[in-house]
Amino acid sequence: MHKYQNISAPVIKRLPRYYRFLGELLDKGVTRISSRELSQKMGLTASQIRQDLNCFGGFGQQGYGYAVESLYNEIGNILGLDHNYNTILIGAGNLGKAVAVHMSFEKRGFRLTGIFDNDKSKIGTKIRDIAVSDLAELEDFCKNNNTDAAILCVPKEAAPEIAERLYSLGIRNYWNFSHYDLSVQYQDIVVENVHLNDSLMILCYRITDAYEDQE
Ligand code: NAD
Repeated sequence: MHKYQNISAPVIKRLPRYYRFLGELLDKGVTRISSRELSQKMGLTASQIRQDLNCFGGFGQQGYGYAVESLYNEIGNILGLDHNYNTILIGAGNLGKAVAVHMSFEKRGFRLTGIFDNDKSKIGTKIRDIAVSDLAELEDFCKNNNTDAAILCVPKEAAPEIAERLYSLGIRNYWNFSHYDLSVQYQDIVVENVHLNDSLMILCYRITDAYEDQE
């Protein structure tokens, strides 16, 4: 059972941002910070910060503030970043390559162990020291290498069949960039969907809203 299972989803959602800010403070050699200072830097209210951080043990001490390193480590523990979940990526196109190259998997709880594609011109090429494998080898690879999670960077049309193969192999954790809605088909999976276009549309809505307010 997860030690921190009572933390609410909105708080969990804010943790990566706390983690990032605290990491930057650590890099600058800051050892402690008050909730007021932290709130100013993060654009949150001090009481919001106190409420959030109290959820997992109240690290702040009256008159001392927060010990940056222990708070940073504790948030890392809550997020489980010390895990090394073995992860494969499917679809070594523009997006898949960018994800493979730019994500610091090891610092975020994951280890990229394999990259797969079905395009003969890509198979054997190296991304991040990992040679792209033929998707035909997926079953063999997963039988020989314990695999915890999969990243989907394939077109929507290709995703259902690939998802079915991954699911049959027992893979239940997905970072999904494809526009195929995995959770409709599979209810017992953990999935984080990333849709940059959704974010762009929300930006569009908010800009439109702001312009209309000015009229
Ligand atoms: P791309 O064409 O450069 O790459 C797609 C890769 O998938 C190719 O290497 C292709 O060979 C491989 N592929 C296709 N069918 C396959 C199959 N059946 N088995 C194995 N590999 C297969 O495209 P891209 O720009 O990398 O984008 C990939 C997909 O991700 C697109 O369909 C796009 O809609 C989606 N996308 C999502 C986001 C997001 O924010 N979620 C952002 C950009 C793109």
